[in-house]
Amino acid sequence: MNYSGVIYRYWEYLPLSRDIEVTTLLEGNTPLIEADNLRRELGAPCKIFLKFEGTNPTGSFKDRGMTVAITKAVLDKAEAVICASTGNTSASAAAYAAKAGLKAFVVLPKGKTAIGKLAQALIYGAKVIEIEGNFDDALRIVREIGEKTKVVIVNSINPYRIEGQKTASFEIIETLGSAPTHHSLPVGNAGNITAYWKGYVEWAARHGTSLPKMLGFQAEGAAPIVRGKVVKKPETVATAIRIGNPASWKQAVQSLGESDGRIDIVTDRQILSAQGLIASTEGIFCEPASASSVAGLKKLIRRNYFTQKDTVVCTLTGNGLKDPDTAARDVPPPLKAKPHLSDVLRLMKLK
Ligand SMILES: *Cc1c(COP(=O)(O)O)cnc(C)c1O
Repeated sequence: MNYSGVIYRYWEYLPLSRDIEVTTLLEGNTPLIEADNLRRELGAPCKIFLKFEGTNPTGSFKDRGMTVAITKAVLDKAEAVICASTGNTSASAAAYAAKAGLKAFVVLPKGKTAIGKLAQALIYGAKVIEIEGNFDDALRIVREIGEKTKVVIVNSINPYRIEGQKTASFEIIETLGSAPTHHSLPVGNAGNITAYWKGYVEWAARHGTSLPKMLGFQAEGAAPIVRGKVVKKPETVATAIRIGNPASWKQAVQSLGESDGRIDIVTDRQILSAQGLIASTEGIFCEPASASSVAGLKKLIRRNYFTQKDTVVCTLTGNGLKDPDTAARDVPPPLKAKPHLSDVLRLMKLK
């Protein structure tokens, strides 16, 4: 069967009619990879699956929501779209706007966007505005522009973003044959945890599947939901979740409550260590933010939270190639050799 993107695949679950023009880059249909090496390494009693969203067209899960948000914007005859972004939303908005022939504006916190993501927004042709402030400042300004002008906001406060993102839950249930018992993911602006939960609940209502417990993880320096208060100056190496005042805070708390889940903190060190472990055991290079799902899992495994009967899915939200600097900083540098066979062999240390 030809795959045509998440809108065509899950049309009857989305608030769009069938006869409209769709903007798609064939997002979704991402791999769900059983991670046995990682399971052994973590000493986990349960099965672990990784939903690798880094294979989406712009390298993150944002594309699932963006196809729906941009399709709706075109339907509504928008002239331009705008978003605040830690990087991936802007990359995705810029790409889908390019495909749709729409103008895109992105507002980024200065100096805190991974180089790959900034390069994406620029090459897709968005007008990029860096502000001397953080993501929360950027979103505040974008909200005001949305109120005062006709430019359409494509952040996850746009409900069509959440609608598209919920399709990841559908794919997981269809691949596993049932819902997992637990779903772990990083929490930044909290749109994705909201979307996954919505997806699981809607699928359950139609098909009678069970519901997972939602497990959310925030970085230690950017953990407003865990701490129960706004973080004025969020800081973390995981720039995609460097957010101090999440837009979907209430919905996230509701998802956690309804699913009997939990939300916890992981440190930058734990995040980077998990990023390395996922790469070296499973051959998957994800972003630092993505790795917090696995860092959190490790924390809960140590506390004997899981049993043998459990199946956990961790969403790896984005592709590690977007932020090579952070990854390269945290690993030993290459060995140096003269251009001689003997020198290279010496360094290889074969037996
Ligand atoms: C956007 C993003 C997140 C955070 O998702 P929210 O919906 O803001 O909670 C996590 N990881 C990556 C790679 C992202 O791009």
